[in-house]
Amino acid sequence: MAASINGVGGVGFGGLTCSTKTPLPSSRSSSFRVQMSVPVEDKKRNYTLQKSQEAFNAALNLMPGGVNSPVRAFKSVGGQPIFMDSVKGSHMWDIDGNEYIDYVGSWGPAIIGHADDEVLEALAETMKKGTSFGSPCLLESVLAEMVISAVPSIEMVRFVNSGTEACMGVLRLARTFTGREKIIKFEGCYHGHADPFLVKAGSGVATLGLPDSPGVPKATTSGTLTAPYNDIAAVESLFNSNEGEIAAIILEPAVGNSGFITPKPDFLEAIRRLTKENGALLIFDEVMTGFRLSYGGAQEYFGITPDLTTLGKVIGGGLPVGAYGGRREIMEMVAPAGPMYQAGTLSGNPLAMTAGIQTLKRLKAPGTYEYLDRITRELVQGILNAGKKTGHAICGGHIGGMFGFFFTVGPVHNFDDAKKSDAAKFVRFYQGMLREGVYFAPSQFEAGFTSLAHSPEDIQKTVAAAENVLSKI
Ligand code: PMP
Repeated sequence: MAASINGVGGVGFGGLTCSTKTPLPSSRSSSFRVQMSVPVEDKKRNYTLQKSQEAFNAALNLMPGGVNSPVRAFKSVGGQPIFMDSVKGSHMWDIDGNEYIDYVGSWGPAIIGHADDEVLEALAETMKKGTSFGSPCLLESVLAEMVISAVPSIEMVRFVNSGTEACMGVLRLARTFTGREKIIKFEGCYHGHADPFLVKAGSGVATLGLPDSPGVPKATTSGTLTAPYNDIAAVESLFNSNEGEIAAIILEPAVGNSGFITPKPDFLEAIRRLTKENGALLIFDEVMTGFRLSYGGAQEYFGITPDLTTLGKVIGGGLPVGAYGGRREIMEMVAPAGPMYQAGTLSGNPLAMTAGIQTLKRLKAPGTYEYLDRITRELVQGILNAGKKTGHAICGGHIGGMFGFFFTVGPVHNFDDAKKSDAAKFVRFYQGMLREGVYFAPSQFEAGFTSLAHSPEDIQKTVAAAENVLSKI
């Protein structure tokens, strides 16, 4: 694996000069150097995170909390975040030279494996023509066609730059189409960080212990009604007490932001029926589940067709992308076809489109989702068996390449159930697994992801490591 260490990640940054003492760029007089590419000889036999710790201390002076997205900061698992140097396939290497089997997959996009050769080659070709056009390009139509033919509910699509943007756009659209303002979301579901969704928003917010965020005006969330996931009676009662006012229900059709939680057998069907009966739209937020549970996403997997869908992560193949789409009559309300304004300087960016196209091409090959399902089942079953063998209360599950487990007997049907998981034990497990070279998401309330690049050997190693760690905690 030595080649990979100097390969993809060593792209000529040389060294980043940081200071742990002085807060601003004037600190370029270095107190230490962080190597962006780790020489092979630097690989330590013993597990040490010294360079990561130094880099994090420096980053704390430069960026809020030292990171650009909160859950990366390891707040809920203790210790300090690990600075990565390079990724390839199912593996990652940190700046201290430690190697990990990765189950975060950049939080979902890396479903065919990190830094895939074909994706990199296609990106290099596109890059020769430029990095951004700011006018239409053929690649947008290619990816749009692929998305439309794959996802049952999508007849037209609008590309944006993140899942957050996709959810913001789709909410405005649902309100435009119905002429209503209220929405129902579920406790523990995350739909990006736009104001109206920052109510009982799951993992990142829960991990930081913030029930809500300051800075969100009451007026922007007053139309956001919440219900526990998997609770049809609660949804019925919201419709009854807000008759004719609800524009849409938005949900994660399988939840990834409270840990991994699946819908009860009749839940999605009942939600579909209730939205129709009440003249409200059904929005599946498939930013996580899209092209991950199956090629057509959760809606294909569960056989329930929403009116609108959001996508992100996988469809950008590791570059920043989001999308929303749905029935033509609804999508034609989006500007410039219709009156609802939504725009983006970099939307449909040729590099992002290229990475998405290559990723979907690979996923479309026969057998891919069967493979993901098989290795993910082996992984989860292996961890659950190891837990039971070593006397721990544990439950978990998977669909396709998405999985999760909780340190509680379960079953876990909603965020309150998920919170019964033994958080202190998760921290001990998490830290133990890092030392064994396995990188899970640094929160009990996040789903895990596998990829086509995860080998049966990766899975066996992970299960053996889990058994070892579980026998000691
Ligand atoms: N919706 C869901 C279901 C998500 O999981 C996420 C991100 N994890 C988002 C929306 C927001 O996406 P982004 O981080 O790309 O803004």
